[in-house]
Amino acid sequence: MRSWSISAGRLFGVDLRIHLTFLILPLFVFWTDYEANQTANWPRDLALVGIILACVAAHESGHMFAARRFGMVPKAVILLPLTGVALYDETRAERQPPELAWQREVRLALIGPLVNLGLALLAAAAIAASGKDVELWKWPGMRPANLPSSLVWANIYIAVLNLLPAYPLDGGRILRAYLARTIDASSATRRAVSISTAISMVLIFGGIFSNNWLTMVGVIVFSAAQLEERALVFQSVLDNVRLEEVMLTDFATLSPADTLVDALDKAVHSLQDDFPVVRGSDMVGVISRQRILDALRADGNGYVQAVMSKIFEVSMRQDSLGSAFRKLTARSSSIIPVVEDERLIGIVTLQNLMHSMSLLAESRKLQRDESNE
Ligand SMILES: [Zn+2]
Repeated sequence: MRSWSISAGRLFGVDLRIHLTFLILPLFVFWTDYEANQTANWPRDLALVGIILACVAAHESGHMFAARRFGMVPKAVILLPLTGVALYDETRAERQPPELAWQREVRLALIGPLVNLGLALLAAAAIAASGKDVELWKWPGMRPANLPSSLVWANIYIAVLNLLPAYPLDGGRILRAYLARTIDASSATRRAVSISTAISMVLIFGGIFSNNWLTMVGVIVFSAAQLEERALVFQSVLDNVRLEEVMLTDFATLSPADTLVDALDKAVHSLQDDFPVVRGSDMVGVISRQRILDALRADGNGYVQAVMSKIFEVSMRQDSLGSAFRKLTARSSSIIPVVEDERLIGIVTLQNLMHSMSLLAESRKLQRDESNE
């Protein structure tokens, strides 16, 4: 995902990245300008690109503000010349019942186009108030020679195009949410992505014979769908993988009666960074290698009992990977014991999750590619 976008600072506390298709846009605008007028005005062409970038940034800010209100935590947003792809911190997202999720998705999707329509109205009102005739209705409304008119029309185009039912454009998100009411989420997404691919192909080829801007839109929709799909593979791993598939079953434990020096000695012989503390068959605490070291440095030798943390969350073998992630981040701990009938049957650590997540994402992708062939 990172290889196709470059960092461009932060937008309302979220990592802002610009997709490489945005670098093609200046060339594209320059070329269109040149074709129409047999000459091109570089500064005006760049100003038009700036206007489009600002309109997309405003559109995405609308989505992110709404998302925050729904309790979602945006991590990064990648801007394409027409739309953006926001990446959320899924490990902290709350699960919602399908009926609420559908309403939330529709509101979340509509806010972006509404922001652009609002801006178009504002810009048109400002133009009217200035009393200058900027030929707002002269075709094409968006052209480097007329920047005020471009500001109005860029917003209108972005609003209207984002309502196309081409995932991950806003219209496509609504379509996916609608499909997800009757079929499961990942099939709904797959169906929305194939509809989207069909639409982008029609745009790309239709555009070649009519308007080059349509081709550009098709390419952008296609790239955005690819970006989004990768994030979804990650999400489906979080939702569908059970802890029993990734937990470590061969692990070292400590006893509360161990001394810290003994504990460190055991830690040296294990790859684990975190240890469950067990008395008989009862889980009584958790402790990390770092904690043992810090305690030894600060107070010298003592007992594990005194240093371990006694407050910890446990999970069941059927719990999802996503729920384990949420527990880990909520408590900022790095180990979750997996228990069954109050017996410790495995552990999940942050270190082991990171490792298995990337392996699982890769193997699911391979399986899916095979089943598509
Ligand atoms: Zn949008």
